[in-house]
Amino acid sequence: MKIILLGAPGSGKGTLAKKISKDFDIPQISTGDLFRAIVKDDSPLGRQVKEIMESGSLVPDEVTIEIVKKRINESDCKNGFILDGFPRTVAQGEALEKITQIDSVILVELPFETIIERLSSRRTCPDCGEIFNTNDYASANCSKCGATLIQRDDDKPETIKHRLEVYENNTAPLINFYSARLYKVSSDKTPEDTYRPVKTFLESLEAKK
Ligand code: ADP
Ligand code: ZN
Repeated sequence: MKIILLGAPGSGKGTLAKKISKDFDIPQISTGDLFRAIVKDDSPLGRQVKEIMESGSLVPDEVTIEIVKKRINESDCKNGFILDGFPRTVAQGEALEKITQIDSVILVELPFETIIERLSSRRTCPDCGEIFNTNDYASANCSKCGATLIQRDDDKPETIKHRLEVYENNTAPLINFYSARLYKVSSDKTPEDTYRPVKTFLESLEAKK
């Protein structure tokens, strides 16, 4: 099964992707995570990507498409995958059409006010990528691996606003692009509440294959 998760930054795509990945046994491909890994090694590309990410803008399409193409060709993707954070522009969507055929596009919906609240209280594990929220998780350490949690530079208030503008201008047009294949879910309740209808939907999709 090949799935795209579409939605604004902070809408809960990553959390949903992890649940789907586990239950349906397909890898989660998060371009944000791929880029954060590239930034960690001190290369010219890493330095370029770091600057772009910190500002909340988008990495150029050519670079992004190349990285995703390579990742999709790895052997663990042969039974499918979940794209989390890609495509983020119509040009990326068009390029993806040429690479492979997508079964379904899930749009995760959440009002911008709620997104701003959630991103401001989001903490991330720099080692294993687990996500926490200060409203319901008081510890400073990751419950999975114990590493000290951080607030991502791009989760700071000044950058959040810019990321939402970038989403509105560049990514939201993909909703039209995929209109015929779109499944919508609201993530205004708990992660479990968001996942439940999606799971049912994906099971029905799998049964049809
Ligand atoms: P979020 O969805 O919370 O904004 P991500 O981890 O998905 O966070 O992405 C973080 C940053 O990585 C983005 O703000 C952008 O700079 C870069 N990025 C991720 N995916 C893409 C993409 N498909 N195209 C261009 N840039 C991307
Ligand atoms: Zn961890």
